[in-house]
Amino acid sequence: MERLQKVIARAGIASRRKSEELIKEGKVKVNGKIVTELGIKVTQSDRVEVNGIQIEKEEPVYFLLYKPRGVISSVSDDKGRKVVTDFFPYIQERIFPVGRLDYDTSGLLVLTNDGEFANLLMHPSNQIDKVYVAKTKGIPSKENLKKLERGIHLEDGKTAPAKVKLLSADKQKQTSIIEITIHEGRNRQVRRMFEAIGHDVLKLKRERYSFLTLNGLSAGEARQLTHHEVKLLR
Ligand code: URA
Repeated sequence: MERLQKVIARAGIASRRKSEELIKEGKVKVNGKIVTELGIKVTQSDRVEVNGIQIEKEEPVYFLLYKPRGVISSVSDDKGRKVVTDFFPYIQERIFPVGRLDYDTSGLLVLTNDGEFANLLMHPSNQIDKVYVAKTKGIPSKENLKKLERGIHLEDGKTAPAKVKLLSADKQKQTSIIEITIHEGRNRQVRRMFEAIGHDVLKLKRERYSFLTLNGLSAGEARQLTHHEVKLLR
């Protein structure tokens, strides 16, 4: 038994609050009858329709993928490139990535069919640590790294404070390895932050997402999240 608004939200149709509005507006039917009352509970065998369309109920599933470079963070690609769901050929559920990593970025990506869980993780108020390791062109000065920490002006606004650690610098090759922790998830954010201080990112990997790491996985491998991990992320 689950609350109706939760079932609608999990189907990825709307956030929990929007699902409540849809119910109040009389747009939701359970077994053919309009339901406007919040809090009613439904089971797997109840037929739920939103705006006349029956929603499919699937058991929620949660995965962690070590995304390799050269893969699109999407469920399909019109140019036929490899997508992250290609790593789950035996999974029947319609999973999708929670947020995205660039085509050329590798690292930790969560996939699920639970729309509500995905919305929750991506909500800006849910300040999830995302730890990246970047290989940059050139060796940024301490002052420039401080700028990244304080927040830097990008075309879509100033970035929130970040944690930045210079892990190593190769003076001969003029490259550095830098760990950066951010909470936001703007498009190409880490690459743009480094570009803004004059250092292109040559390689980028997401090593940690909240408490989740890539331990035990090689690029292209995935594992299911445990119940405990899902509970902690909520
Ligand atoms: N920042 C980027 O620039 N790229 C990613 O894939 C993720 C964060």
